[in-house]
Amino acid sequence: MHFEVTATDGAARAGVLRTAHGDVPTPVFMPVGTKATVKSLHPDEVSEAGAHILLANTYHLHFRPGEQLVAELGGLHAFMGWNGPILTDSGGFQVFSLRDTITAVDDEGVTFRSVYDGTAARFTPESVARIQAQLGSDIAMCLDVCPPAGVSAREAEEAVRLTTLWATRQREAPHASGQLVFGIAQGGSDRELRTRSIAELTGLDFDGYALGGLSVGEPRPEMLDTVGWAAPLLPAEKPRYFMGIGDPEGILEVIARGVDMFDCVLPTRLGRTGTALTSHGRLNLRNAQFMRDPRPLDERCSCPACTRFSRAYIRHLVNQQELLGLRLLSLHNLRHLLDLTAGARAAIQAGRLADFIANALAGDAREPQ
Ligand SMILES: [Zn+2]
Repeated sequence: MHFEVTATDGAARAGVLRTAHGDVPTPVFMPVGTKATVKSLHPDEVSEAGAHILLANTYHLHFRPGEQLVAELGGLHAFMGWNGPILTDSGGFQVFSLRDTITAVDDEGVTFRSVYDGTAARFTPESVARIQAQLGSDIAMCLDVCPPAGVSAREAEEAVRLTTLWATRQREAPHASGQLVFGIAQGGSDRELRTRSIAELTGLDFDGYALGGLSVGEPRPEMLDTVGWAAPLLPAEKPRYFMGIGDPEGILEVIARGVDMFDCVLPTRLGRTGTALTSHGRLNLRNAQFMRDPRPLDERCSCPACTRFSRAYIRHLVNQQELLGLRLLSLHNLRHLLDLTAGARAAIQAGRLADFIANALAGDAREPQ
């Protein structure tokens, strides 16, 4: 079995996901290496921060540098110098979130203009399976139709229909040796549509399932309510992946509802805006109050930034747009989310997740020190 649940606490689960490049303890936060790099960080730094698996974007790697080139250089693991597990998305999210670039959607696939140079491109279930096979990722995602929140009932239903049709074909397409394939359920927050999508996808027997089309603009209470009733509809013995959530509260709330995997660009994106995630909330290092602050970003953190540098110094780096400032904040934010997820895992094993979440969120809500 490639997935084993080892402990539960309410709806939450702790487990182990087994991949061709190693075991992944769950729940797990997957740092995003969009273009085969977690921005500004060496793979060893990402590993030392506690990451067990990375996400890379099929859309971007398809256009730059191209899956053929990556394959010639030994596949994505060798190419980017990361020997741990890698999940690749299907590219569908990028295509459907860049809605202005779509020129046609039909039963066979989606035609769009490349965001890089505007040239015509086409993704089909077969082509994204082939791209991900050439990249050689450990987990490949199905091509899905991911509409934004608030689309018409007809458009939402069409997204579910095409997502199932494409998943059926991608299930049969060739994959890399040992590559797991996950289906993605759509349907937004509509109970009937989401239930139908989950039933159709689980009927295809994938290695894992993602809840897609959430956290796409709908109110957070509605999103969490949907995860709460939708996650239990997925098979208990398969990993569950929530695509695109990475703020501390969001992570903890989806873990509590039975999600095992999640990803987000937040830690590095916040780093680039001079923001640190800490156990007492977010710090905006541009704020003048940190000018003479000798304390670390977070006294509870043992990352390379917090063990050596002051808020005052990092603020100086950020204000001068020094690369080290970006790197230190990215390292810290990554560590913060990975520590938080590891803490949640330990709490599930100890049967005290609710207390852990209450404590973590109480700190998160406090005024920054
Ligand atoms: Zn730190």
